[in-house]
Amino acid sequence: MKAAVQQVFEGVVDWLPGRPVTIAGPCSAESEQQMLRTAHELSAIGKVDVFRAGIWKPRTRPSDFEGVGEAGLKWLKQVKEETGMMITTEIANPEHVELALKYDIDMLWVGARTVVNPFSVQEIADTLKGVNIPVMIKNPITPDINLWIGALERMYRNGVKKLAAIHRGFYLFERSPYRNAPMWEIPIELKRTHPEIPVICDPSHISGTPEYLPEISQKAMDLAMDGLMIESHCNPGKALTDMKQQISPEFLKDMLDKLVIRKEYGGAMFEDQLQQLRTEIDKLDAEFIHILSRRMNLIDEIGNYKKENDITVFQLKRWTEMLQQRLRVGSEQGLDKEFLSQLLKLIHKESLRIQTEIMNKK
Ligand code: PEP
Ligand code: MN
Repeated sequence: MKAAVQQVFEGVVDWLPGRPVTIAGPCSAESEQQMLRTAHELSAIGKVDVFRAGIWKPRTRPSDFEGVGEAGLKWLKQVKEETGMMITTEIANPEHVELALKYDIDMLWVGARTVVNPFSVQEIADTLKGVNIPVMIKNPITPDINLWIGALERMYRNGVKKLAAIHRGFYLFERSPYRNAPMWEIPIELKRTHPEIPVICDPSHISGTPEYLPEISQKAMDLAMDGLMIESHCNPGKALTDMKQQISPEFLKDMLDKLVIRKEYGGAMFEDQLQQLRTEIDKLDAEFIHILSRRMNLIDEIGNYKKENDITVFQLKRWTEMLQQRLRVGSEQGLDKEFLSQLLKLIHKESLRIQTEIMNKK
């Protein structure tokens, strides 16, 4: 998952209209009435900076509702004129870009299904050359951080300086309560390697239902993400796309009112105290790494000893007993079982790798 570290986004401008920025609106534009009613209700919340609506919908089956097309752009423009909110829509090809520009759309986003295809992303980027419009890039459906960064790079190389990433979760085959697994480590890695790119969380596509929206939104804020994009519809039960995850503007208001926005940096006293705690952590981590290294040296010795005596690298009984004993001790000391189990398995995997290498040495 590691991103290739490269400072490619020099000169990117801070363009977000609000921090954290709130983008809300229906998954799809369906009718003039649905758009204007939703927009007025969202605008009345007083916390929504940007109104979103999909005009062209990438659908799994061709028989599904594929969006209203150009008519929806007219409604979006009307939303801007009547409410003063900025407007955004998804574009997936050069024709979409041209039309969006014609209707004064304020910012564009490239969807998760488009980002997986570098040809499409490049075509869009080429169309945006010399156009000063903000572009948001959703993460690709697959958990590939470099594909995500690659799409941002293609825009940047064509002169797009107002960029943001949207974290909408990743499709995994495993069963999970969420529609798309958040895999928070990926947007965090993006922030680490490219801190100049704001990251907006889309909890609607992560959750897939209203149920987890508040907790995912709060987590995004606690991880210092730069905003939220949330699907909201004036009549959620009647929505033509992503019906299960639309929330009413009223639900959104309640959720936004309860959201706690914490500061990323505190005052001098707080920073002093934090620094002391961090020094402790640094010391413990140094000890931890030293202990790991001593452990791996012992593994070397064991590996050589097993080799001399023709003993297998892996011994099921020993491993099962070890794991159980460590988990018992860990649980007595208040460590999460799943976390410790994963950590021990990782260490064991590395031990097996080292011993196998020793066995294979001529
Ligand atoms: C959407 O925002 O409605 C959408 C299609 O999202 P994604 O590209 O993340 O699936
Ligand atoms: Mn949607």
